[in-house]
Formats: sequence, structure tokens, C-alpha cells
Amino acid sequence: MENRGDIESGDLGEMENGDQWVNNECVIMLAKGELKLHRSRLQLSQMEEGSVLLRTELAEVCGTDVHLMHGRLDLVPYPIIPGHVGVGRIHASVGSVRDVSGVPVKKGDMVTFLDVLDTCNSCITCLVDKQTTRCPERRVIGISCPANGGDVKGLLGCWSSFIYLPPKTKIIRLPIALPPIVFMAGGCGLPTALHAMDRACIKLMDRVIVQGSGPVGLLAAILALHSGAGQVIVIGAPAHRLNVVKAFGIDWTVNIQEITDPSDRLRMVTDLTEGRLGDVVIEATGRPEAVAEGLALCRNGGTYVVVGQYTDNGDVSINPHHLINRKHVVMKGCWGSDFSHFHRGVQFMAKYSHLPWHQVVSTVFSLKDASKALSCVENLELFKALIKPGT
Ligand SMILES: [Zn+2]
Ligand SMILES: [Zn+2]
Repeated sequence: MENRGDIESGDLGEMENGDQWVNNECVIMLAKGELKLHRSRLQLSQMEEGSVLLRTELAEVCGTDVHLMHGRLDLVPYPIIPGHVGVGRIHASVGSVRDVSGVPVKKGDMVTFLDVLDTCNSCITCLVDKQTTRCPERRVIGISCPANGGDVKGLLGCWSSFIYLPPKTKIIRLPIALPPIVFMAGGCGLPTALHAMDRACIKLMDRVIVQGSGPVGLLAAILALHSGAGQVIVIGAPAHRLNVVKAFGIDWTVNIQEITDPSDRLRMVTDLTEGRLGDVVIEATGRPEAVAEGLALCRNGGTYVVVGQYTDNGDVSINPHHLINRKHVVMKGCWGSDFSHFHRGVQFMAKYSHLPWHQVVSTVFSLKDASKALSCVENLELFKALIKPGT
């Protein structure tokens, strides 16, 4: 990555006229495939009334960032500062700013925030259909906000020493019992998985089958277990990810690199469930062919939730007579998450902070190693990569 500027990031100071400034370092994705490390001195007097500046503690590198790097998402306003989930300490705020519980924020508070900055609350989708995750005005920090590394108001992404939170950003103070690195082990996959749980409507003792052992698949399996599932089976790969899945108390895993034929996997699941198959099947793979397999894994009248097809990976052939109509299957899509999922996700992580989350977060990268972090995530070399600015 090209490095620009000769100032030390993280420095702060005051100008002769009393203006506060900070030295910022951030990674800017100029276009698909192009990252640049950018340094600049930013004046805090440009902050808007009701806004907050966070000093970043940890930022996530997730599959979405890999998609952004390859230009696979529509309508991304490059250049952007990637990173849509992060934790930081309040460095500055202007005017009266409160967290979602109504408590005023103060300098030094460790907080996180909802990455969705805007839904319009005035369109048909928001008001009548009540599908705010599909609002056309939805703007997400680190994904659909253009970056300007030279203006404090342009620090709209987490791969940065400082993050600007515009007025009305929904801020949550991290509970004392929740260390930032544990919260980030849940990260962006947690609200997505929680939304999938809501869609799945799991009942006590349900048999739940999760396709995929990435962050969303792992979290869906953990949440299913804590939602009262009697049996959770995770179908995925590679083996090191399935070992992490098992460390969270999920007893049954099927390795797709060892059992390569879907009909063999169906036989295995049939045996494991004593011929009953899944009351609920959750797809978290991103692979279109998994959908045909997932429908086959549902019992008669079972529920199938598709949450992993975040980008367009093509078509797949499905026999609707056998797999949908005759099976009487309930099939649901699941797009994004809203504040209720995020808020409950923070509460879940605080209550279950004793689980072995350290197995999920194995490597913390510096900003200058962002490209390396991206390729590790893309190649499934580690479960989750984080960035800690200033290291
Ligand atoms: Zn709307
Ligand atoms: Zn993400």
C-alpha cells in the first residue's frame, strides 16, 4: 500500500486560534482493487452540532470488505474508507449527544454504533411495508458513504484512527462486562445472524441445520443453541473453522471437503436426525448451489432462511415440485439488520462473554497491513480479522 504524509497518526493539539486538531491515518479504497494509506491533520471545528469523533479501538475486516475490494457490490461511491463495524472511545462531541438509552456521552466512553446512518422513514418501504433494511435511502458507514480523508466529516469508515459519527448516529455504550475484542468477535455477523434467528422462529427442541461455517454460520449456530434448539448441525469447511464451531458446544459438524457429494451429506443429516431432517435450515454460505441442498435438508413443512447470498453469484436449478411445493416448505430471505438486532446483539455478547470468543479472533492487524488482512479473510485462513489503528 502506498503511504502518504509524514505526520504521526493519533497526535492531537491546539492551533493558535484555539481550534483543536488531530492527526489521522486511514485506509482509503479509491476504487475496486486500490487501497491507499492516507494521513492528514484534521480540524475539529468542522464537526457538526450533535456529532461525535471516536478514537478507533478496533475495526472489523469482513467478507463485505472483500466484496468491496472486488467491486462486487452495486452503487458503492468510491473512494470509501472501509470498515462498517468498529469500537472506539469518544474523543470529542459537539453539543448534546446521547446514547440510545438517553444517557449523555462523555469523553473516554467506549462505544459502538449502528453502521446504518440513514433510513428515510418517509418512503413506502419504510412506512407501509416496514422493511427498513430495504429502504432506498439506506446509507451504511464503510460501504455506501463516500470518504474524504482530508475532512473530519469524511471519516465515515472504521479503518481509520478516528471515526466521525454524524448527528443522530445510534450509539451504544459497551457494557463494562464486555471487552471490545469480545464484542468484535461477534462483529457484523452477529446482527445478521440474529435477524436470521428472528426469521427462523426457532421453537424449543427444534433440529436446526446451518449451512456455512463462516462468522454468520457460526453465530447462527450459537444463537440457535441459545434459542432452545435441541440439535444443531453445521455443514461447512475448512476443518479449523469446524473445530471452532465445536468449541462453542455444537456437537455435530459435516465437513464438505471430506463429504463432497450433497447426496452423501443428505444421508448423513438424515441419520443424525433419525430420519426427521431440519425443522429449520439456515443458509449462510454465499454459494447458490447450497440453496437446492438446503431445501432438501428441510423436513416437510420446515423453514428455510436464506441469509448468505449477499452478492449475485449466479443462478441455480431447483425442482420446485419436490423441494418446495410438495414439501410444504416455508422459504424466507433475510437482508441486512436493523437497530433491534444490533442492540440485542450487544446484550447477547455481554451475557455470554465467557464463551471461547478468543478462538474466533486470532489476528489483529495494523492499518498498513489492511491488504494482508483482506486476503487472509478471503482465503479463509482465519475466522475473523480485526484492525487496530496506531499499531
Ligand atoms: Zn425509506
Ligand atoms: Zn461486515
